[in-house]
Amino acid sequence: MDTPAFPNYIDGRWTDSGAQFENRNPANTGELIGLFTKGRAQDIDDAAGAAANALPAWARMNAPARGAFLFKAAEILDRRFDQVAADMTREEGKTLPEAKGEVRRAINIFRYFAGEGSRLNGFVVPSERDRVHMFAIRKPIGVVGLVTPWNFPSAIPAWKLAPALICGNTVVLKPASAAPLSAWRIVEALHEAGLPKGVVNFVAGSGGELGQALIQAPPLRGISFTGSCQIGNWLHQEASKRRLRIQLEMGGKNPTIVLADADFNAAVENTVNAAFFSTGQKCTATSRAIVEDAIYDRFLDALVERTRKLKVGDGMQPGIDIGPCIDKAQMDTVLRYLEIGRQEAGAPRIGGRQLDGEGFAKGYFIEPTIFADVTPEMTIAREEIFGPVLAVMRARDFEDALRIANDTPFGLSTSIQTTNISRVFDFVYGAEAGLITVNLPSAGVEYTLPFGGTKDSSFGPKEQGPAALEFYSDYKTVYLKY
Ligand code: NAP
Repeated sequence: MDTPAFPNYIDGRWTDSGAQFENRNPANTGELIGLFTKGRAQDIDDAAGAAANALPAWARMNAPARGAFLFKAAEILDRRFDQVAADMTREEGKTLPEAKGEVRRAINIFRYFAGEGSRLNGFVVPSERDRVHMFAIRKPIGVVGLVTPWNFPSAIPAWKLAPALICGNTVVLKPASAAPLSAWRIVEALHEAGLPKGVVNFVAGSGGELGQALIQAPPLRGISFTGSCQIGNWLHQEASKRRLRIQLEMGGKNPTIVLADADFNAAVENTVNAAFFSTGQKCTATSRAIVEDAIYDRFLDALVERTRKLKVGDGMQPGIDIGPCIDKAQMDTVLRYLEIGRQEAGAPRIGGRQLDGEGFAKGYFIEPTIFADVTPEMTIAREEIFGPVLAVMRARDFEDALRIANDTPFGLSTSIQTTNISRVFDFVYGAEAGLITVNLPSAGVEYTLPFGGTKDSSFGPKEQGPAALEFYSDYKTVYLKY
């Protein structure tokens, strides 16, 4: 069978500029999923030009009519639900149930923001002057660039595209090279929904080359980025030279605090889920478990025993809990941190090796790993690893645990496991993070509330929920004498 080819999408046309790059299954690198067109800087310029041309008509269209396109795209994705989820497992490696959950979320995000088309409200307030009517209406910011990572290859493009479009912006989307197919499927659905040409443009290819072109594209007015701190910080510098509106969602070193009064079994389950599901490759994954001294040893033993039961393998197979790392570079990064962990904290209590042999040889599989007695100054307690690696740390009491939890430059997600309501509120007010969970895993958010972090994890307005509209729209204020 011929390998499927996935062209770029510029000005309403599928375009192939010649060179291609491979999209391979990280669970089985022998499987070539497809060949993607390798976009060039010129393609970004063309895409931004097409978006600029499409902007006036799209921005003037009434918002419920814009919403109708989003509803239709959601419908198309829903019809292809099983295929889109299977594509995601094959290109990203997460298990099929996880992929199905993510595709469902992407569809729901489209429907939610489609509905926002009927609610895009501004302000009307009384004037201090007689016979003056004053109000503020929302307007789009213009052409926006969306740059997305591979770990949520459908949900993150969806949660940027849908609010951008409903607010009347036009878009250039640059997906991650390691998993571009899930975003391509969304663009395909928008195309089939009849979206006017130029409103959404998709250019895959090298982030370095395309990122440089995107940030310099003259029509660009804003950029929303999710990915590493290194790239996000560079984009921020470049964007500020042009006063582009910018939104950055970046790394984390998320803690879960476990107090002695917690529901013990639930706390074990929540910690293991947050640390290892999706191979620890969630920006909201728990990478530090901070456990109160009184239950430390018992909790550590229980964590190790629960982790022992996790099944690693190809996410397409039933019963698998944990898939592969996304690619060799990411696996090598994790292996490097495992070595650092050994030097700092001694042998891991479980895991610590790359898996090979039957079912593993052609993939990037690493055993879920727990290091015990990790202390706050250790590298594995400070740097984002982005793999199935958990550092377990000891705390004297709640105050000590909160101090350790906050002792990081990051501030994305944080969790506490406790039955003490006063501790819950002390934590809610004292934790330095944008997302807080109580008696739940640190990962697993919903699209109807603001999403994003604080400190070095994030910059700019939040994503998702009604908050997303604040990034993708501006106000026009009107004073009217009658
Ligand atoms: P990454 O290497 O920063 O890549 C993210 C995106 O940026 C990709 O599309 C990449 O393209 C592109 N890119 C690379 N160089 C660029 C440049 N010079 N200019 C513009 N774009 C460029 O991050 P990743 O490895 O895909 O994702 C993992 C990171 O994302 C982790 O740190 C994780 O915590 C973070 N993350 C954060 C959130 C959040 O909401 N806070 C959510 C998910 C992930 P290529 O793929 O072609 O290199």
